[in-house]
Amino acid sequence: MKFATKAIHAGVHPDESTGAIMTPIYQTSTYVQDGVGNHKGYEYSRTQNPTRHALEKNIAAIENGNFGACFGSGLAAIDCVIKMLNPGDEVISTNDLYGGSYRLFKTIFEKYGIKFHFVDMQDPATVEAHVNENTKLIWVETPTNPMMNIIDIEAMASIARKAGAMLCVDNTFATPYLQNPLDLGADIVMHSVTKYLGGHSDVVMGALVCNDEEISKEMYRIQNSTGAVTAPMDSFLVLRGIKTLHLRVQRHCENGEKLANFLVTHPKIDKVYWPGFPTHPNHEVARKQMRGFGGMISFTMKGNHLEDALEVVKKVEIFALAESLGGVESLIGHPATMTHASIPKEVREKTGVVDSLIRLSVGIEDADDLIADLTKALA
Ligand SMILES: *Cc1c(COP(=O)(O)O)cnc(C)c1O
Repeated sequence: MKFATKAIHAGVHPDESTGAIMTPIYQTSTYVQDGVGNHKGYEYSRTQNPTRHALEKNIAAIENGNFGACFGSGLAAIDCVIKMLNPGDEVISTNDLYGGSYRLFKTIFEKYGIKFHFVDMQDPATVEAHVNENTKLIWVETPTNPMMNIIDIEAMASIARKAGAMLCVDNTFATPYLQNPLDLGADIVMHSVTKYLGGHSDVVMGALVCNDEEISKEMYRIQNSTGAVTAPMDSFLVLRGIKTLHLRVQRHCENGEKLANFLVTHPKIDKVYWPGFPTHPNHEVARKQMRGFGGMISFTMKGNHLEDALEVVKKVEIFALAESLGGVESLIGHPATMTHASIPKEVREKTGVVDSLIRLSVGIEDADDLIADLTKALA
């Protein structure tokens, strides 16, 4: 089955008792048993819930995986992956990681004896140089947030295989419509479902998908043991959101391209970071592993003044000043003071998150209106 058909049909079946075409919201904590141990596959909703189950199957299908698990947030999904490790294990991760992932790794897991290396993954040799016998996980985010660097997933998979480590890819920015890490050799793919999969800025959720049965057992064991599960109502909303994922991402890509091309010609703008430009340093890798370049764009302003950036994010009218991304509506953000505020200034500046950096999550409104809005704010 092709993507659009899977997005709409995978994991969902008309309700057997009523014929309802949409998966019901099974708002229940427990399930009645005919006799001890004689149940219909559901015992307790932390462990399993039919609405969540349908969504987990659906997300697994669109990522070309066998096993899916949904969590209360993207960070809860990441937390599950790190809990597969043991004290003494080491993780190699990108140096311009999503701020929340960085905080989870540094301030929560380091004290349990897991060591993290944050490196520039654009050159696979840099990653290889950090591999040792304790390396158990390579954590990749591509495109990266907010610098839109592209990391070669196949190259990371081959390093991970040689090291005997797992490769997990945070596929939040690309979405399964544009990139499928499992097909490129990753062991686990992770999503902040909050973003494009939900797509309507009304749910916080995370997901993991894998193909390996042993990994899936650990994933479900940790999901059930730590209990960071997602709710039936939210599962229903995301099932609905995913039905239009392909259409939404197509428009995100079209609008992203129009806005990126507008921004590069603007006299007040210095650099524009968008992987669709042939001049982007990793454009060839992006072409190889992605089917489109998405609607996430970052840019800096000439002179690099904090006040200029703050003025622009305040003056826009259609773009909403907010954290998050991936919804139908366009958002604008200032990473240095918002999403990346928890990362020390010297650390963030090294990776390009300077004071005038602005990040756009280009929505699916009319591109002309979005360009007019930015034109006015930049004037
Ligand atoms: C938002 C985000 C996360 C965290 O997800 P939550 O749903 O907010 O917990 C992780 N990675 C990336 C790339 C994100 O954008």
